[in-house]
Amino acid sequence: MKRYLIAGNWKMNKTTGESIELAQKLVESLKDVNDRDILICPPFTALYSVYQVIKGTNIKLGAQDVFYENSGAFTGEISPIMLKDVGCEYVIIGHSERRHIIGETDELINKKIKAAINNGLKTILCVGELLEEREAGKTLEVVKTQLEKGLNGVSKEEMKNIVIAYEPVWAIGTGKTAKPEDAQEVHAYIRELLSKLYSKEIADETIIQYGGSVKASNIDSLMAMPDIDGALVGGASLIAEEFTRIVKFIKQ
Ligand code: PEP
Repeated sequence: MKRYLIAGNWKMNKTTGESIELAQKLVESLKDVNDRDILICPPFTALYSVYQVIKGTNIKLGAQDVFYENSGAFTGEISPIMLKDVGCEYVIIGHSERRHIIGETDELINKKIKAAINNGLKTILCVGELLEEREAGKTLEVVKTQLEKGLNGVSKEEMKNIVIAYEPVWAIGTGKTAKPEDAQEVHAYIRELLSKLYSKEIADETIIQYGGSVKASNIDSLMAMPDIDGALVGGASLIAEEFTRIVKFIKQ
């Protein structure tokens, strides 16, 4: 049976000491949760230390990005092998901040996805439209292109290691959340696309997360939607009490 996946993307926040402290609090506050998957994605510099805290618990480790080669002259980059080496099970690829601030293309994102899954990392592929694209009625078109290009060459078998995160860019870090019904419409569309690209069975089994100003106050209404299978949480995942409530779907 499909399980919810609730993930925290810490972005470029927290020193090693702060990361350890947050991870320790989460290990304690989430220790009784066993009916859903919990993932935290600290910055690269804290991955090793955080893994020492969460190893053997119900919290999994993920990175926020990866490069597409395993080693070599790629100054400043981090390879899939290195992420596995420090305990990562997941990696986020194609986050909107990397697409729109760093300038990552669908082609680069696709190379990263293939490298990650070839090395046994589960991949969260982020897709989502800009405000002007939504206003121009292009949401589904944008999501389709990002999904098809991102998954180009990914086989049916490999799809079990892929998670999709629908994150409308206008909702990320802005405090504006998509209405559950609007998010549901895009999630259902993504599932339909996966069904066409792969099979209904694969589409039904793929976790499709929602991301964009998820908080304890809105988590339950979002998760009540039939095609929303989890959340990718940014800002609110930096506060142990708030992230705990989000994971447990506790409003207050
Ligand atoms: C994110 O980082 O993917 C995100 C959705 O951020 P926030 O929850 O802060 O909007």
